[in-house]
Amino acid sequence: MSDCIKNAKNTELNSPPSAPAANESRRPKAYLQAVLASMPQGICVFDELLRLRVWNRRFIEILGLPIHAVFDGAHFDDIYRIPALRGDFGAGNGDEHVARQRELAGNNQPFSVEQKLGYHRTYLVHGEPLAIDARQAGMVIIYTDISEQRATAEREQLAQMVFSHTPAGIILTDEGQRILSINPATTQMTGYESFELLGHTVFSLLDESSPERMQRMTESLAENGSWHDEVPILRKTGTSFPAGVRINRIDDTHEETRGHHVWILADITERKEAEERMRHIAQHDTLTGLPNRLSLHIRLAQLLPESRRHQWRIAIMFIDLDRFKIINDTLGHQIGDELLREVACRLSSVVRETDFVARLGGDEFVIILPGIATPGDAAVVASKIIASLSMPVEADGHELHTSPSIGISIFPDDGPDGDTILKNADTAMYHAKSAGRNNYQFFAANMNHAATERLDIERKLRHAITRNELALCFQPQFRANGSQPTGVEALLRWHHPTDGMISPDRFIPVAEETGLIVNIGEWVLRQACIEMKQWIDAGLKPLRVAVNVSARQLRRRDFCETVAGALAESGLPPELLELEITESSVMENPQDAIQILESLGRMGVTLAIDDFGTGYSSLAYLKLFPIDHLKIDRSFVRDIELDLNDRAIAFGTIALAHSLGLRVIAEGVETPEQLDLLSTHGCDEVQGYLFSKPLNSAAAFAFLHALSRAE
Ligand code: C2E
Ligand code: CA
Ligand code: CA
Repeated sequence: MSDCIKNAKNTELNSPPSAPAANESRRPKAYLQAVLASMPQGICVFDELLRLRVWNRRFIEILGLPIHAVFDGAHFDDIYRIPALRGDFGAGNGDEHVARQRELAGNNQPFSVEQKLGYHRTYLVHGEPLAIDARQAGMVIIYTDISEQRATAEREQLAQMVFSHTPAGIILTDEGQRILSINPATTQMTGYESFELLGHTVFSLLDESSPERMQRMTESLAENGSWHDEVPILRKTGTSFPAGVRINRIDDTHEETRGHHVWILADITERKEAEERMRHIAQHDTLTGLPNRLSLHIRLAQLLPESRRHQWRIAIMFIDLDRFKIINDTLGHQIGDELLREVACRLSSVVRETDFVARLGGDEFVIILPGIATPGDAAVVASKIIASLSMPVEADGHELHTSPSIGISIFPDDGPDGDTILKNADTAMYHAKSAGRNNYQFFAANMNHAATERLDIERKLRHAITRNELALCFQPQFRANGSQPTGVEALLRWHHPTDGMISPDRFIPVAEETGLIVNIGEWVLRQACIEMKQWIDAGLKPLRVAVNVSARQLRRRDFCETVAGALAESGLPPELLELEITESSVMENPQDAIQILESLGRMGVTLAIDDFGTGYSSLAYLKLFPIDHLKIDRSFVRDIELDLNDRAIAFGTIALAHSLGLRVIAEGVETPEQLDLLSTHGCDEVQGYLFSKPLNSAAAFAFLHALSRAE
């Protein structure tokens, strides 16, 4: 600083010179004034007694001083008290702030501090002691506004923090997509250190870069400067992870970054896994883990067009477990569930990897065999399924026996679309059920005819009783050793005026399904009692008459009354009436069955378990039922000579029945060899074509009457 300033009397240096045309000696001072006024810094000079001597306008602006407070000789404290009281140096007591300012300026030492002043502005405050003639002469203080630099630095710092701490991977690339820098999250995700990636193209990190995808990316970047998609990203280890990738082009004004790109990667493994879990849950059966109905439809929707294109055939198998409901109801759902799980396992192990096994619910399963050469291939698989399910299932100490009824339809032969093909497999399955269960049936067009025929039967059956179309025939039963008759089984016949004889195997299931069996069964019961009573009245030695009772009848509360009514009406002694009840109909609801059977027993009526061996019996219950006979089913007798299993079941039944104090009757005995095997193993009674076919009432009476006379 020169003397002329220090000694200036005109203290407002930044005010215009009072006389521009004044003499030359004033010019240096005027220059100085102009320099100070044009400086972006605020400048002030205090003398050694801290009195203001020189300043410029920026200084007044920066400290926000009122004009009257700024004059030559104004004291340091008075100047600084003004912003201090305003709180410009920060919160707190004004005096303290002034003292602090003094400490800085009054030390006669150079200093340099950053100070926030006024409204978010930051200044570099620099103080420099002045000496005139080697004597201490005060202090110049210069305020330089560094707010912009500070803000930029802060922004950069923040950006750097985000860059280093964000969980998203950030990769900066140049216009050629070569990697310029990566953040730590990228390293964490990929396992690559930054030096390993710098200079390489970012595309080397993409695990899958189909040309179409690359094309879309290039177009999108060119058009909107951005792109996003889900792409698998490669790790250094060679594995990859799913990532949400977003690219933004930097359209900055800065020359050096223009055209660069920011890649942001988010690891979406967890989301993908959650999605996958949700998808799995939605498309799978929780009990068996097999695909469910939804995934069956999805699979079919994929497979059908594919096989149309390749002209492949697909087999659809509809599988329903025989007697599952009985197992479930008698032994409980837990055991039923266990059985289903085991069946699911066996089904899956029978088929190939490429085949598809689904559970539709309950005991219904569907298997898809894609690309079969001939329907015979499906038949082979169906036989394997039957064989694998024939092995008993162990569940909670129970040995469970189940068998499948399988319906098979072939695409495209049996239908043009998934729904039709499934429906037809289902129809075929019902066909398998009526063909005696534990078998498979192909869908054939005539099976649809079977369905309409069923409706036809139902319609006609409704009038069968009133139009007198029903009749009973009787099949005699005999002692197994010797030829003495023990009774007859009443079997229903339907003579339709136009259709002729309709077999019970065709109309009884329809009657059961529709409930018509209740009325028909009541008619059978009364008719059987009446006819037997008439025979006895006509001189026949009293014989037992066995009447078949269906599950539907047994479930009715008034069944006992119906029986009592038939007996009373006919006058037949109760001990001459035997009711044949299938094992499945009592096992449907064993608790109720016990009660009904007990009251029937109290009436004096005898009871036989019909079709024994084809249903599912619980021995525990069998002991509780007041039954008199077990009737071995015809299917076991038929092959008793050849099939060791059937033989074992027949002989086992005899032994079991005897141990429970029951008599055994075998039906369907057609050959002397069958009779011989049965009688030597203790079978008590027999019935079958070997002795007599079912006979109409007159013929049966004549047959039996002749026998009793021969005795
Ligand atoms: P089911 O109770 O097992 O009756 C025995 C069936 O075997 C009868 O057939 C009988 O004719 C037949 N059969 C008897 N001995 C032999 C033999 O040596 N060889 C062969 N191959 N078959 C023999 P049907 O009369 O056709 O009756 C079939 C089924 O219809 C019966 O089977 C029974 O379940 C049902 N059913 C018949 N009548 C009635 C009825 O009045 N009420 C009810 N609910 N069902 C009936
Ligand atoms: Ca029977
Ligand atoms: Ca039978």
